[in-house]
Amino acid sequence: MELFWHRRDLRVADNVGLAAASGTGDAGGAGDVDRGPAAPVFVFDPGVLDHASDVRVRRLLDGLAALRDDYRERGSDLLVARGDPETVLPELAAALDAERVVWNRDYSGLARERDAGVRRALDAVDVARDARHDAVLHDPDAIRTNAGDPYSVYSYYWKKWTDRAKAEPAPTPTGEDLVDADRLADAVDAVDALGSDDGAVADAAVGDLPTPADLGFAEPDADLGPAGTAAARERLDDFLDEAVFAYEAERDYPAKGATSRLSAFFKYGEIGVREAYAATEEAMAEAESDARPEDAPEQVEEFQQQLAWREFYAQVLFHNPEVVTENYKTYEEGIEWRDDPEEIAAWKRGETGYPIVDAGMRQLREEAFMHNRVRMIVASFLTKDLLADWRHGYDHFREHLADHDTANDNGGWQWAASTGTDAQPYFRIFNPMTQGERYDPDAEYITSYVPELRGLDADLIHEWHELSPTQRANAAPEYPSPIVDHSERREEALAMYKRARGEDPDD
Ligand code: FAD
Repeated sequence: MELFWHRRDLRVADNVGLAAASGTGDAGGAGDVDRGPAAPVFVFDPGVLDHASDVRVRRLLDGLAALRDDYRERGSDLLVARGDPETVLPELAAALDAERVVWNRDYSGLARERDAGVRRALDAVDVARDARHDAVLHDPDAIRTNAGDPYSVYSYYWKKWTDRAKAEPAPTPTGEDLVDADRLADAVDAVDALGSDDGAVADAAVGDLPTPADLGFAEPDADLGPAGTAAARERLDDFLDEAVFAYEAERDYPAKGATSRLSAFFKYGEIGVREAYAATEEAMAEAESDARPEDAPEQVEEFQQQLAWREFYAQVLFHNPEVVTENYKTYEEGIEWRDDPEEIAAWKRGETGYPIVDAGMRQLREEAFMHNRVRMIVASFLTKDLLADWRHGYDHFREHLADHDTANDNGGWQWAASTGTDAQPYFRIFNPMTQGERYDPDAEYITSYVPELRGLDADLIHEWHELSPTQRANAAPEYPSPIVDHSERREEALAMYKRARGEDPDD
């Protein structure tokens, strides 16, 4: 028997580590260790929970409930434990008489430190362990420049990424490949009988999930939508059925709902990336047939490019773990952010008086999600209109996004702040009014999140910053006036970046 440790891979299908642990797939490196069946476990680690948020804990619990149901359908169940994995996993392995503990690699810095500790703890008790490559199609170390360096420019990375052969989805274990629910219950009794001195796994249970309150979190206000593999597959199928064939043309228009909204499913690993990619290849085959317009392949390729962005940022974080808190790009003199607390608070509340910015920030609160184009706009606004450090925005997103992913969130923020890999040049500053006008011409997205502006003409909404105080008071008395003047702030931002570059701001 083997123990499979779930972390950010809450699925049974297309799970490389689980397939290896259960003997369903290639057991690679197992040597003389017996293979399968697998006993799946999830460990609530206080070290990880310290960095969690109400939104992410709720979303995680929803994903775990779906995963547990998938196991139950196969006659098995999910072991749920609490404590430090360095203590919990060796004890569980002993209680289950497991020959090996298997997991999928996590590429972020903190997770790598934790995993090193678990490796040492298992080695100390002579339990074999194996970490598999699963979360992305290409290992962060696999795609490098011809000189052998990690990539920092996406377009070059993409060229290599798209040319590489992709792995097939990992095989899905059946009931026979998994430890049955009764035997898991016996194992939990055995854990209790171990009488661990520190009680680390005393509350290991079969399928018994805690509530957010048990973990010290509150129920979030946001509506998080469905979780789990079945919901992810339904969403992917729907998207690839039609929307993907207009993806490039429509993805920037938030009112069109033209993107897949798969990000939280990817974040929690509820759908395997090999499975998702294989499905896009099927869509590509259809795109290349006569049934679809000539530009259909480009539309599908644009979607595959987003999957590659996810992998690009995963390798940026893997090779540069310090970017979580540090600028990727060094500015000679350091950037002197203004960091006005009131302006930052108005941004968080969605009360800046810039309609597209406020709509985005309110979507974030209501749905724990924000459309990509709008993420770019609000991030540009925070850093280049409010001259606030990107870390304020990153922390706010980290707290409120259900799909918060260290690599992607950090990559997105540093891109917008012109501090990252392949970032926006510092002098490219979005004008929030023209962005709104261009990407939400009928103000449909704006008015769905900013009720104060409902019923107004779209033109009036897009000219909000140009109206007089009286005009604003007459049109929408409850909606704020712009808290800053974009043209002035644009100049100040340029000067701020020039100073940081050691240049004369007046040049
Ligand atoms: P689709 O357009 O359908 O794309 C499909 C998938 O590709 C996404 O689900 C996601 O996994 C990946 N993807 C798409 N765009 C990007 C991108 N620019 N970078 C990396 N991966 C991408 N994405 C996150 O998953 N988590 C985050 O915490 C996150 N924070 C961001 C912060 C900022 C400031 C910015 C500008 C972008 C951020 N993104 C983040 C990237 C992007 O906005 C979201 O992935 C996307 O909006 C999710 O919607 P979707 O699933 O409908 O995307």
